[in-house]
Amino acid sequence: MADTPAQTQQPRRIFYVVFNLGDDGADSGNKSGPVPVSRASIEAMPRIKVEESGSDCSICLEEFEVDEEATILKNFQKNSQTSSPKSNVNSWTPKLSMIFTADAIPHIIGVKPPDPHVGPDTCIWRWTGHNDFDLKSAYYRWLQPVLEDPNPLWSHIWRIQVPQRIRCFLWLAGRQKLMTNMERCKHALTDDPLCPLCRDAEEFVLHALRDCVNMQRIWKQVIPRSLLLTFFSKPMKDWLRQNLCTNIMSHINIPWKLVFTLILWQSWKNRNDAMFAANSESPDYVLSRSIGLAHYYYDGWLQPQPTINPSMPSSPWISPEPGWLCLNVDGVVSLNTGKASIGGLLRDHSGNFIFGFSKFIGCTNSLHAELWSLLVGLQLAWAHGVDLLQVQTDCRKVIQLLQEPHVDSYSISLVHSIRQLWRKAWFIDIIWTPRSDNKTADKLAKLADLSSFDTTFFSTPHAELHDILVSDNLALPL
Ligand SMILES: [Zn+2]
Repeated sequence: MADTPAQTQQPRRIFYVVFNLGDDGADSGNKSGPVPVSRASIEAMPRIKVEESGSDCSICLEEFEVDEEATILKNFQKNSQTSSPKSNVNSWTPKLSMIFTADAIPHIIGVKPPDPHVGPDTCIWRWTGHNDFDLKSAYYRWLQPVLEDPNPLWSHIWRIQVPQRIRCFLWLAGRQKLMTNMERCKHALTDDPLCPLCRDAEEFVLHALRDCVNMQRIWKQVIPRSLLLTFFSKPMKDWLRQNLCTNIMSHINIPWKLVFTLILWQSWKNRNDAMFAANSESPDYVLSRSIGLAHYYYDGWLQPQPTINPSMPSSPWISPEPGWLCLNVDGVVSLNTGKASIGGLLRDHSGNFIFGFSKFIGCTNSLHAELWSLLVGLQLAWAHGVDLLQVQTDCRKVIQLLQEPHVDSYSISLVHSIRQLWRKAWFIDIIWTPRSDNKTADKLAKLADLSSFDTTFFSTPHAELHDILVSDNLALPL
């Protein structure tokens, strides 16, 4: 352990304790065993002047000599005769190196030893003013990093306007708890930790969401080239924070955090399809689907639904061509409660009422409500045996959505159901109509019974529709 001390010439004699420190250390001499302190720690310690001889350091086992200088480490010998303060001399056990590792000793000797003159040494809980433990302070201490973070990641995740399952997915990603192959290996669910798509690396969360070659192909299409280096170099949490805690808009005029979220979500779903259903799509396809969904959620959640001004003058209802029937549909959502209802009616080209419906559909967004109204209206029209159907809706987004090139791939069950009906043996034409012209359907939606989820079917016009229907029919061409 320690070796013969090297001495300098008089009058200033410096006592060095020499330890075997490997490449960085000095000669170890004949003694073996763990190194009690690092050389840097020794050199950083204060030096003292030895006043009497006759004792040795119980750690380095070297004898002291009068008038030499020694590091403070030697103060821990028993009955030291040095000029160091008493509090440093007589309290700490001299056998530190037998108990603690070399790295720990400097930390221990840096603490003031117990002193019988100031009372017995006791344990205290430093996080309370009275130094006694209580659960509240422990809980606060545990949460302190989160509570003191002025910009926590989780608060941004929960504010993103996507379904809750996608927020949960982001939260798990932030905690690196997604069930990747590496995680499945830990749980003995597989013995293959490799990425199922590229087979080039172990499937950690960051690899699955960013670094996999498939993901790089997606990100390089949407991240400006000047930002790629930064984008691909951040650790997981910083990477999520950088892309979720921002209000910048993407190149498609949708908040980047929404686009980013849906790329992550769709990529993760695609990865799972590849893993468990052997049915993965190309990165380009995943990107296209992600952007389509970003449009869908942005328009559905973030844009407030305009309200109908009762005093707004109605423009005439546009009747269909003879032989065609017209289905007007609408969905309404309460801004206060989020409760949504739908309504619609079928008329012929002369404005004759064929049937109407209304239905409470629970809490959802305006786009979902519009899609629901279309679906239920189509179901009733198909059941009625309609061959030529013109649909009128005041929601442009519904029309855009149904005309998207990859609409059949959207993981939106409402859209799937509508498309299935659409492909049946009938002709459907869908057109946009101003909200002021769609008051009949709007009225029916507001007539829905909020205490029941059943569809209310009207074979004759409801009394409250009378004035609107008369107004519509008066405007029809003779
Ligand atoms: Zn991969």
